[in-house]
Amino acid sequence: MGVYVLHFDPPFQHARHYIGFTMDTTPDRRLKEHLTGRGSPLVYAAHKAGCKITVAKWWKSGCRNFERWLKNRADVYKWCLCCGFCTRRPATMATWKKIRAKRK
Ligand SMILES: [Zn+2]
Repeated sequence: MGVYVLHFDPPFQHARHYIGFTMDTTPDRRLKEHLTGRGSPLVYAAHKAGCKITVAKWWKSGCRNFERWLKNRADVYKWCLCCGFCTRRPATMATWKKIRAKRK
């Protein structure tokens, strides 16, 4: 399983990224589902509108809680390899685990 970031080029309306989770060992099959309308309606709409959709980041062994955390941060562009204008050290799964450990 893992968590992936899809990058839309050009951005689709307000959306430049999509964060998703899959039980698969790679995001490939899930991406194919998105592009054929069996995944997120947003990704499908972006694809239909002519956006190029790239898997910009893949966290192997990312879980659903990690996906949720990424979504809440709303700064996914920092990790996106397509945007590539990360000025600070982006948060990683290690950061997430540290924060989670503190909360316990
Ligand atoms: Zn991006």
